[in-house]
Amino acid sequence: MRGALGGPRVLLRRLREVMAEPVSAQERLDKVVVLIAANMVAEVCSVYVLRVDGTLELYATEGLKAEAVHQTVLRSDEGLVGLVASEANPINLSDAQNHPAFSFRPETGEEIYNAFLGVPILRAGNTLGVLVVQNRARRTYSEEEEEALQTTSMVLAEMIASGELSALARPGLEPAVRRTIAIKGTALSEGIALGHVVLHEPRVVITNFIAEDVPKEVKRLEGALETLRTDLDTLLERGDMGGDGEHREVLDAYRMFAYDRGWVHRLEEAVRTGLTAEAAVERVQSDTRARMLRITDPYLRDRLHDLDDLANRLMHQLLGKDYVPPRERLPDNAIVVARTMGPAALLEYDRKRLRGLILEEGGPNSHVAIVARALGIAAIGEVENATGIVDSGDAIIVDGVTGDVHVRPLPDMEAAYVERVKLRARRQQQYAALRDRPSVSKDGERFTLLLNAGLAVDLPHIEETGAAGIGLFRTELQFMVAATFPRTTEQYALYRSVLDAAGNRPVTFRTLDIGGDKVLPYMRNVEEENPALGWRAIRLGLDRPGLLRSQIRAMLRAAGGRELKVMFPMVATVEEFDQGKDFVERELTHLRRHGHKLPDRVEVGTMLEVPSLLFQLDELLSRVDFLSVGSNDLTQFFYAADRGNMRVSERFDPLSAPVLRVLKLIIDKCREHDTPVTLCGELGSKPLGALALAALGYRSLSVTPSAIGPVKAMLLDLDCAKARAMITPLIEKPAGSVGIRDALIAFAAAEGLQV
Ligand code: PEP
Ligand code: MG
Repeated sequence: MRGALGGPRVLLRRLREVMAEPVSAQERLDKVVVLIAANMVAEVCSVYVLRVDGTLELYATEGLKAEAVHQTVLRSDEGLVGLVASEANPINLSDAQNHPAFSFRPETGEEIYNAFLGVPILRAGNTLGVLVVQNRARRTYSEEEEEALQTTSMVLAEMIASGELSALARPGLEPAVRRTIAIKGTALSEGIALGHVVLHEPRVVITNFIAEDVPKEVKRLEGALETLRTDLDTLLERGDMGGDGEHREVLDAYRMFAYDRGWVHRLEEAVRTGLTAEAAVERVQSDTRARMLRITDPYLRDRLHDLDDLANRLMHQLLGKDYVPPRERLPDNAIVVARTMGPAALLEYDRKRLRGLILEEGGPNSHVAIVARALGIAAIGEVENATGIVDSGDAIIVDGVTGDVHVRPLPDMEAAYVERVKLRARRQQQYAALRDRPSVSKDGERFTLLLNAGLAVDLPHIEETGAAGIGLFRTELQFMVAATFPRTTEQYALYRSVLDAAGNRPVTFRTLDIGGDKVLPYMRNVEEENPALGWRAIRLGLDRPGLLRSQIRAMLRAAGGRELKVMFPMVATVEEFDQGKDFVERELTHLRRHGHKLPDRVEVGTMLEVPSLLFQLDELLSRVDFLSVGSNDLTQFFYAADRGNMRVSERFDPLSAPVLRVLKLIIDKCREHDTPVTLCGELGSKPLGALALAALGYRSLSVTPSAIGPVKAMLLDLDCAKARAMITPLIEKPAGSVGIRDALIAFAAAEGLQV
């Protein structure tokens, strides 16, 4: 390396010695800057540390005036140092003084230096400070020198992250690494949880940064890369990954990254500078993460995610750790933080200890969110860089009501939340006290409050909440959490246990609703441009009759001697309903012929979630035994807005005239035909949504278990006639989409309703 004495390897060796010396933090830091300056033949080497107040404090310098240390403090956007920090990018200039961002502090004596090289001190994509070298001469630092300085900055990152420097700070102005952070995401599942962070894919902690034997480290890296590639080849060559299509391209691209020469070259270079193989991986990964934060293009972000994921695998490989960690050692009050997660993964955690979930991606209608709600776990999605800002074991608060996350909260905040938890617990007690009260409104209207369920874990909720039954049993959840197709006997066993748990309360089973975003890992994926509009639910059931037939048989047998209600998801035409019903009839005939005990009564209905059915209501309602409105999908298709994509799903308010007019049309038609109707979408699970539905005339709602209490409490205080009088003119008004939500909130406030 040009300009450096002995090269980065020597420097790293020396730094390792300094790290091991039993000296104070300040002395260690002072030695570090002297070493770097000497090694890089720089007249100045300085370390700026980002503080909790967002400013950058000079912590050590060789070359600038010593009295400036701990005195010079820069705003995070001030000067070149601020620019390095805010952009998380190196700046390399031969003539710094002519750069528009240049500014100097007289107390440092910096004005005589022309050449400037500053690199961010990064850890997991977060900037912790800035490391700078300067020279008087207008020289250009080489790329190798820039690389070397970035490598060196890792040692400082670990020093800052270890908390060692906090002893040098004034209270309230500590290094930002341990600062308290408040961030907001999207509330996915109500509840408040205080606990400690568990990273879903735990970041491995590197303890050994500096290579003792560089050729050996190069070999280790090569060996790990080789194993990584072979593992990936085996994984992707397996039978269930076969076939062409987009998934194949994505997987191949992922595998190709393992051979990507640029990536491998960067890793090798980092090792050759004297880092251990794992430190080299982290070094390159830090760069990738910093880039990921700046890039908004979804395609590029995905690619960087792939690289990041690959680096994770490689790191686990090098350290001999499982890539998917064993989950048995959870702390009490675990709050799991993940980038993304499927519904099955959440179920693998020990539910007795799991309190909360935070995701970087995932909207309220994602299936992990539905499972979180069923489990009663506070959950928040769309929390940017959540995994980057927390460390395992950090104290954390999840407010699943407002979407607020508090990382490493201050004692005041914690105390306030402990109070809120107590308050909520009191409210829960009030709801529990309502358990046996009939759901009758103030003006005597009777309501049926049912549960949405899908797994055995939901069953105790029937008793706990005093629900009138199960209005929607999502049978696909059993399939989604299984490793292979559940056999008919397993389906039968689950359905039987559901009916047993319900006793004489009704249960409505929905046939498999898979496809779209509900993917079965073991089923061969059919690649489609638009899965939500594709081959899913009843469509798949009718085209692959074996699956539907065996499921219906399992239901009919489980309900022997009792009542059974079956409905089909995603029905778009009356004919599809007829075909589905035919299956039921044929299975009944089959069972009868074979002498099985039949259900006492079978009702067959359908979900209404595809808008085309709105224009077939008369034909449909004369055929079905009951109707269930799936407002989640109905709203998605009605507005042509993906329910899982927060950019578009939140643009359209279900509490606006177009949706409410549709919902009114449905209830009016059902009344005309005397067809029982329930609404089972999430709209009914919110007291405000339930208020609107009650006002439109809905009397049966199937809601998430935690919503029974709040919805019932609201209904008991509601005057339905008054609510109807309030809402009717609003939805009939020509420009009626404005302000219906606000009008409902105002009505609730005036009537003393808790919404
Ligand atoms: C709906 O679409 O409203 C519904 C209840 O079904 P799911 O959320 O399971 O798609
Ligand atoms: Mg649906």
